[in-house]
Amino acid sequence: MNPADRDSHFPRREFLKAVATFPAIATLASAADLPATRNDRRADREVDVAVIGAGLSGLCAARALGKAGLRVCVLEARDRVGGRTFDHPIGNGNVVEGGGQWVGPGQTEVLALAKELGIETFDSYATGKTALYISGMRLTWGREQESADLRRVKGALDALAKEVPLDAPWTAPRAGEWDAMTVADWLKANKATGQTIQDFAVDCETELGKPANISLLWYLFYLHAAGGHTSMNVDAQKSRFKGGPQSMSRKMAQAMGDDVILSSPVSRITTGGAKVNVESARARVTARRVIVAMMPTDTRRIAFSPELPEARQNLVKAWAGEPAIKVNAVYPKPFWRDAGLSGLGISDRGPVAVTFDNSPPDGSQGVLLAFLSEEHAIKNPADRRKAVLEGFVHLFGKPAADPTDYVETDWSADPWTTGCVSPIGPRTLTRFGPALRAPAGLIHWAGTETSEIWCGYMDGAVRSGRRAAAEVLKAL
Ligand SMILES: Cc1cc2nc3c(=O)[nH]c(=O)nc-3n(C[C@H](O)[C@H](O)[C@H](O)COP(=O)(O)OP(=O)(O)OC[C@H]3O[C@@H](n4cnc5c(N)ncnc54)[C@H](O)[C@@H]3O)c2cc1C
Repeated sequence: MNPADRDSHFPRREFLKAVATFPAIATLASAADLPATRNDRRADREVDVAVIGAGLSGLCAARALGKAGLRVCVLEARDRVGGRTFDHPIGNGNVVEGGGQWVGPGQTEVLALAKELGIETFDSYATGKTALYISGMRLTWGREQESADLRRVKGALDALAKEVPLDAPWTAPRAGEWDAMTVADWLKANKATGQTIQDFAVDCETELGKPANISLLWYLFYLHAAGGHTSMNVDAQKSRFKGGPQSMSRKMAQAMGDDVILSSPVSRITTGGAKVNVESARARVTARRVIVAMMPTDTRRIAFSPELPEARQNLVKAWAGEPAIKVNAVYPKPFWRDAGLSGLGISDRGPVAVTFDNSPPDGSQGVLLAFLSEEHAIKNPADRRKAVLEGFVHLFGKPAADPTDYVETDWSADPWTTGCVSPIGPRTLTRFGPALRAPAGLIHWAGTETSEIWCGYMDGAVRSGRRAAAEVLKAL
């Protein structure tokens, strides 16, 4: 391997070696576990629209409806807004992102929202060489090269993806055939080399999960929604938000004041006549319409009366969410930059498989980010921290052993988020796909998973909230 200066943004494929893939088992939290009492009814109210979930999608829906002059109430289970965007302060006014973080040029809606809210972006740091720790040896490496076969495979999938209608992927001419096979099946059938299968898996797991688990139809839709492999694997990681992406939700919620009720998980939604009653820990809300703004799997914690259409119930049962553990280690400065390293690190020894420079824009502190790989996930937090820091030392030397702060965000232990991304299996989309966005009576669905563009990303969340709001406005 010949070292050479690295001047491109980090490749998405390396990112996944990083993403932990855990069984999609949600820890179900019950409203009864929460401090708020069911007798505290000061927050009870009647509104035009109740929005469930104060992530980006729910808040964007509520913001659009409020701007249109409707009375809105947002009910959020957690004691914070932002959902899958969750930033941690690290001192000096800086934050590290525990959830969503990267944004790219094609993600126009989330970029426009940030601009509207006065939130700037900055380039992800990716200048210098990649640090490698392979078979116990430390190396540095320059430019990433994609094999001709990997380019062939990606090009073929990009072409197929264009045949999948974004608004109804289940109507694609070959939907039945593609939904009956996995991405791994397709790679095999198209004679991808062993190396390509391995390299492709890293990319695929970054975005969605293991190729062997994912419906080809769902993958093609996801790819089309992201604008193809270059857009998804490279461009989408070009920038970050100054102050972190959660600040978008904070600013939107601040402007809504008491219309956002925190620590109030919704346990039941009852439709009767022209009204919907929403039962939550801190408020009972009566509305003309409801928008449920979260991953389909997460709606399992809510009881619906009358029951939802069978296709919707089956969709929710079949939906898969995939969580991860994200680690940010903070140092007085990004010391690896002085050695000509980009902060991108790749190791064949767990638990750290891939690292990134996640420092604040001015580099006044140094931050190394790692996603923990599934096969090396260590249950005990103290042992995990020790092993992670050892992994950083292997890649970047002794200074990595002593961070001033160490921040873990364990989405696999989160009571309200089943997964970061959605690796949907075969025969889900063609059987139950139409139930993804179709309103169930007075109940509408938002959440990034319902977006036709950038599904799974922050941009998709923004779009989905606005789409659901437009649906409700049309209906009322
Ligand atoms: C580790 C990680 C890394 C990521 N990286 C990126 C990235 O780099 N770039 C990118 O664009 N995207 C990334 N994403 C994805 C991005 O964060 C999400 O697409 C986006 O934030 C989803 O917003 P949402 O509103 O659709 O859903 P959510 O953010 O999940 O919001 C749903 C809300 O509903 C609430 N809720 C759930 N159940 C109930 C209930 N019963 N009652 C009331 N409220 C309830 C939840 O608490 C939550 O606040 C990442 C996500 C994670 C977790």
